[in-house]
Amino acid sequence: MPYRSPVADILFSLRAVADLKGMIGQGLAGDLDWQAVNSIVAEAGRFATEEIAPLNRPGDLAGAVYENGAVTTPPGFADVYKRWAEAGWNGVSAPAEFGGMGLPHIVNVACTEIWNGAAMAFALCPLLTEGAIGALKAFGSRELVDIYLPPMVSGRWTGTMNLTEPQAGSDLNAVRTRAERAQDGSYRLFGQKIFITYGEHDMAENIVHLVLARLANAPAGTRGLSLFLAPKFLPNADGSLGARNDLRCASIEHKLGIHGSPTCVMAYGDNEGAKAWLIGEENRGLAAMFVMMNAARLAVGTQGVAIGDRAYQQALGFARERRQGRGPNGGEGMVPIIEHPDVQRMLMTMKANVHAARGICHLTGVSLDLAAHARSESERTAAANRAALLTPIAKAFSTDIGDEAASIGVQVHGGMGYIEETGAAQHMRDSRIAAIYEGANGIHGLDLVQRKLPLEGGETVRREIAFIRKIAGAVADRGGARFGDTAARLAEAAGTLEETTSLTLGWLKTDQASALAGASPYLRLFGLALGGACLAKAGLAAEKLAADGDESELGRVGLARFFAEKLSPAASGLARAIASGDAPLKPYEAILAESA
Ligand SMILES: Cc1cc2nc3c(=O)[nH]c(=O)nc-3n(C[C@H](O)[C@H](O)[C@H](O)COP(=O)(O)OP(=O)(O)OC[C@H]3O[C@@H](n4cnc5c(N)ncnc54)[C@H](O)[C@@H]3O)c2cc1C
Repeated sequence: MPYRSPVADILFSLRAVADLKGMIGQGLAGDLDWQAVNSIVAEAGRFATEEIAPLNRPGDLAGAVYENGAVTTPPGFADVYKRWAEAGWNGVSAPAEFGGMGLPHIVNVACTEIWNGAAMAFALCPLLTEGAIGALKAFGSRELVDIYLPPMVSGRWTGTMNLTEPQAGSDLNAVRTRAERAQDGSYRLFGQKIFITYGEHDMAENIVHLVLARLANAPAGTRGLSLFLAPKFLPNADGSLGARNDLRCASIEHKLGIHGSPTCVMAYGDNEGAKAWLIGEENRGLAAMFVMMNAARLAVGTQGVAIGDRAYQQALGFARERRQGRGPNGGEGMVPIIEHPDVQRMLMTMKANVHAARGICHLTGVSLDLAAHARSESERTAAANRAALLTPIAKAFSTDIGDEAASIGVQVHGGMGYIEETGAAQHMRDSRIAAIYEGANGIHGLDLVQRKLPLEGGETVRREIAFIRKIAGAVADRGGARFGDTAARLAEAAGTLEETTSLTLGWLKTDQASALAGASPYLRLFGLALGGACLAKAGLAAEKLAADGDESELGRVGLARFFAEKLSPAASGLARAIASGDAPLKPYEAILAESA
């Protein structure tokens, strides 16, 4: 079954879960209309299905190639990127004044899923450019913005994010790359960054590196980090490309997946120092970098959704074709494996988790838009806090389920899943990184528990739980028999989330270690409760359509029921595990000792 971008599912979620149509109706999305959203998403899906998706497997096989400081991307990548950028796709939500389409962020979230489902290794390049555009726009000087934003928005120049160093991964306190002030107001950078995605490549005319570095005498730790912009080629006053900067790609990594995406070791300042300009203020680099990272975190969450959906589509096609065993009610001859309840369970688990995660990503995206455009200050603040709360869940839950879906996809294929030619294994290899980069998922658990739960004294999280309860109530009131026990299970998950949230908020004051020990399972529990609410909301919309005579979407009710009855009960098990705090981890030295 050839891959197709899930345009209809994305549109359904935008309308029924994120309520984008309602937002447009209230005039909160400029002059965008719903029909235009349909056209944009459909056209993105067409481009991705026809042009990008065919790059996926050959890109995996050929990989990016390094030679003498230059990187060649797999055949077809540069051509398709050029056409993609010329069609304007790089600037979906970028400001119109710099050549972008100026559309709401949520539309870009939808498109990001589409590009990544087609070929994640290809789509990573613009994903990082988008983050760099965001940071530059928010914190760059007028001069930098005028020089760099137009070619970055058009996609002629791409962007990178340079945080990681050998000794500084999750912990950026340890960043050592050095910055020196120059006479002319610019800076010089010296140091080495590792794992830099698309740090060097042949798809764009110039590469704009955003680099975290430390000035002499800066405070220790992250409070002494500044953010700099260092281009591969130094632009002339007229915007044309001038001399090559003193920075280079020293090598690229050989890795498990996303082979088409070069992961670069970058060397800054072999000679006189890489010429760079400050973004924002000295020693305030992390704040600027966070703008970039937050957009990128949601985008990486959509990668989990994207690859999970792609793995699901492929497994579904295989399960319809492959014949093995008798059907559950006996009969003669072998049946397609999709007739076996356990295979149905696997496929529905994949699909339900993907739709749940998509809903969470869409709620996060629309909250970012409302944080900027809602009418009142209090609504904008509430939306910004909601986006902050949901970002770690969108990132970590979605990438975890992306991984799981890809792994289940291999299982559905049986032995053929383990053979590279079917492509199921590639999804598993590609998806694995999404749970690691943009902050390892464990770090997002900590972010959720330590920074996000205390927002507004716990009010932000309480509003989210009330949102879940409200949907459970709506299913109880209006949902028909097709929903089965959805309302009860969803209310149960909301109750479990509420209790565990109170426990965790209490621990933050009295027992940090227990709060941290439960952070990752708590994030998963949150994803289960909120994801179930997203599916139920979509199911309610589908049932309303059916009441109006269109029964074509009723599968969404069944999906909500499957999630509520078969997946969300795991929430109570997670809650029990969280409740035992950090005691079972002790004494970890003895438990993990080789003699144990
Ligand atoms: C293919 C690829 C592309 C990448 N692209 C980029 C890029 O473009 N730019 C860039 O700057 N970086 C990039 N990275 C780096 C990536 O962001 C880091 O690998 C990631 O942040 C994790 O850091 P680390 O590898 O040092 O792992 P570590 O920080 O060493 O973490 C190892 C494990 O320990 C856990 N851990 C660490 N600290 C804590 C803590 N305080 N509490 C609990 N658990 C903890 C982590 O969750 C993880 O499971 C990329 C990496 C890869 C592999």
